[in-house]
Amino acid sequence: MRDITTSDFKFQPYWWDAAAPMPFTAGGMKAAYDVVVVGSGFTGISAALHLARAGRSVAVLDRQDPGAGASRRNAGFVGRVLKKSYSELVASKGRDKALTIYRELHDAYAFTFDLIAREGIDCYAVRPGRFIGATSRGHYNALAKDLAILQADMGFEHRMLAPTATAQGLETDIYSGGAIVPDSGSLHPGLYHKGLLDRAVEAGVSVFGRTEVENLQELSDGRCEVRTDRGTVYAGKVVVATNGYVSKLGWFRRRVVPFRAYMAATEEMPQELLDRLIPHGRTIIDSNTNIDFFRPAPDSRRILFGGATAAPLKGPEEITVRMKSIIDRVLPQACNLKLSHAWDGYCAGTFDLMPHVGRRGNVYYAMGYNFAGVTMGTRFGARIANSIATGAGLDSVFEARNFPTMPFYTGTPWFLGLVMRYFDWHDRRLARRG
Ligand SMILES: Cc1cc2nc3c(=O)[nH]c(=O)nc-3n(C[C@H](O)[C@H](O)[C@H](O)COP(=O)(O)OP(=O)(O)OC[C@H]3O[C@@H](n4cnc5c(N)ncnc54)[C@H](O)[C@@H]3O)c2cc1C
Repeated sequence: MRDITTSDFKFQPYWWDAAAPMPFTAGGMKAAYDVVVVGSGFTGISAALHLARAGRSVAVLDRQDPGAGASRRNAGFVGRVLKKSYSELVASKGRDKALTIYRELHDAYAFTFDLIAREGIDCYAVRPGRFIGATSRGHYNALAKDLAILQADMGFEHRMLAPTATAQGLETDIYSGGAIVPDSGSLHPGLYHKGLLDRAVEAGVSVFGRTEVENLQELSDGRCEVRTDRGTVYAGKVVVATNGYVSKLGWFRRRVVPFRAYMAATEEMPQELLDRLIPHGRTIIDSNTNIDFFRPAPDSRRILFGGATAAPLKGPEEITVRMKSIIDRVLPQACNLKLSHAWDGYCAGTFDLMPHVGRRGNVYYAMGYNFAGVTMGTRFGARIANSIATGAGLDSVFEARNFPTMPFYTGTPWFLGLVMRYFDWHDRRLARRG
């Protein structure tokens, strides 16, 4: 490992250099709150902040230090697409539903940038655009078709780049052209989450880390009993915002499919090399179902990247070696760069590949974002807060009556390997069509 990592290498998210999760263990819990939020990521903190601003007493409970879930581990890509392409959605759900879904993604994207500006959160939130690299001619054709339909239906701005390395301006010839989506964004997720958490605490939210919720029960008088490993607390309403880290809460565990995602950071490099490897500071993903992704760090001259999602990698060494093999393959000019950080984190899929927001009595929930939780988590948290504070509905196309599970599934996704193999087969089939 020593020849591929720097002497100060850390198996820890790069983001934690600027925004490490801190313990929130001081102070005792009150006996009751208007709202108890389970989970302190973007979803939970956004709900808590908006509820406190609406005058509710709120406690956030997390079994880890606040933010140590996916919210301070992700890549910080800010987009408005789902795992299912727009064309797939049109085919499976019809054009009207697909349009409503994409409008809501657009709304979540705009809401997140607005919130950051309104709250004055300094987190390098920018819109440098995204390059989607086609991994074959077949993928290029499918991408062009999908984006053309999105443009016709929603005015989704994009530009196709011909399948030549020079046209892309990238220092790699691995892609068969691709597309530029000019107003896609990025941010520093550590600083974004820290900013939200600071605002929530300033607004009066009580935050308790290292407090695991073991059971939730709605009593006959409508109050919710929240049993934790530090005692029992009561709430008028509960918000479950546990995404891929869900523990103990069986109904939710049976509905989300947690899977691991991996990332790494290179050591610093000359600005000129960084600009050549990733022109214009854009984010880069490829067109595969199981993507590799790259971006420049917002606050230093490094590349942050990831891939091999859901692969059964065993420990820090195996993860780091695998990450190094990804950057060497896609950006060979970076092969002399060592890695300064590598890390992993849990995302959550669902059985219908859609995010879910909903309500069971006085228990609200939002989860299952795949890779879109920066905006969707922020937006769903705020929608739940609004619904609790005003009595209005959740008003979301993702509020399905049915949050599907699978017979005998209890939260251990033994089938992930098969699913990833299916995605690879699907990608190869599309490539052959080209
Ligand atoms: C490596 C990686 C890269 C990603 N890249 C992107 C990206 O570029 N863009 C994007 O939009 N999304 C991305 N994602 C996904 C995104 O990070 C998540 O969707 C989002 O952070 C989810 O936020 P959340 O608040 O719902 O959950 P989390 O931030 O995961 O928080 C859930 C919290 O619930 C707590 N919890 C669970 N069970 C209990 C319990 N019983 N009691 C108390 N606490 C509990 C956990 O400790 C955890 O802190 C990525 C994820 C990973 C891992």
